[in-house]
Amino acid sequence: MRVLVTRRWPDTVEHALSDSFEVVLNDSDAPLSQADLASAMGEFDVLAPTVSDTIDADIIAGGDRCRLIANYGVGFDHIDVGAAKAKGIAVTNTPGVLTDATADLALTLILMAARRAGEGERELRAGAWNGWRPTHLIGSALRDKVLGIVGFGRIGQATAERAHHGFGMKIAYYARGPKDEAQALDAEYCATVPDLLAKSDFVSLHVPGGNDTAHLIDADALAAMKPGSYLVNTARGGVVDHDALAEALISGYLAGAGLDVYPEEPDVPAALLQLENVVLLPHLGSANAETREAMGMRALANIEAFAKGSGLPDRVA
Ligand code: NAP
Repeated sequence: MRVLVTRRWPDTVEHALSDSFEVVLNDSDAPLSQADLASAMGEFDVLAPTVSDTIDADIIAGGDRCRLIANYGVGFDHIDVGAAKAKGIAVTNTPGVLTDATADLALTLILMAARRAGEGERELRAGAWNGWRPTHLIGSALRDKVLGIVGFGRIGQATAERAHHGFGMKIAYYARGPKDEAQALDAEYCATVPDLLAKSDFVSLHVPGGNDTAHLIDADALAAMKPGSYLVNTARGGVVDHDALAEALISGYLAGAGLDVYPEEPDVPAALLQLENVVLLPHLGSANAETREAMGMRALANIEAFAKGSGLPDRVA
């Protein structure tokens, strides 16, 4: 069985894959072109892409050999699962193994935005720090502040747990229905996004990307947030209207924001790059060694199950 891995994966996983299958790895780690991805559909049984590959209907139409798209990552909005399904191609992801890492990063962004950590580091490195003073780079406390979680799934809940048990924050959440897991966090359910935004001092986004959540946080939603509040996004860039976010940050209506994801990665909206009150990270949510290896092993488990003809553990389409 021929497997194409589109980017470098951890060595251990690449070796494990190569032990079992005829694997083509991407030693240069450069993104494949859309033409290469399309022709791979006719040359490989399994395509193993990541969020940096856009697997749209044109790619899926590129050939008839591929029968499994084994994504390295939990989010799969970069894959046209409808087109895959229509062609009888299964799609799998790697849920759960990156929950802790991504929740850790959401907390990193909450803390960095609240405590103006990026701004402070830039000042220090520029040689502009002139010593401790009571009014220097004053941020916000977290204890007793309301953290509003949009999308109360695995990562949303793990972020809420950290914020509540570790930092004394109160939790509110929006989901498509109340969740039993909320009880242990004394978390308040909000039936609409605007209700949640209106009562949150910090808002953290944890819904999947894609058409259903595109610009969920638009100019109206930002206006529904509390003045002086903070927005954090580790979900997908398309969930936020970045022009509207830049305006809210420039006007000072929002105190700050922390972003890990962008609509057209690796491009970062130019207006945001000029601002001090936004923390900008390069899609680091799952980027620790343990997690990246576990993600690869999870993708491998799906490929092995596919090769054996058994049920796919993480089938999403
Ligand atoms: P998950 O467990 O499936 O949680 C997603 C939650 O969003 C679910 O609770 C789901 O609600 C809710 N949801 C789905 N569609 C919605 C909609 N249209 N409106 C409102 N709520 C909706 O997924 P997860 O493992 O927490 O991952 C969440 C997302 O994080 C991924 O899809 C991925 O895009 C992103 N992510 C980013 C990074 C990073 O590196 N920054 C790393 C990992 C994941 P129900 O419970 O009602 O289905």
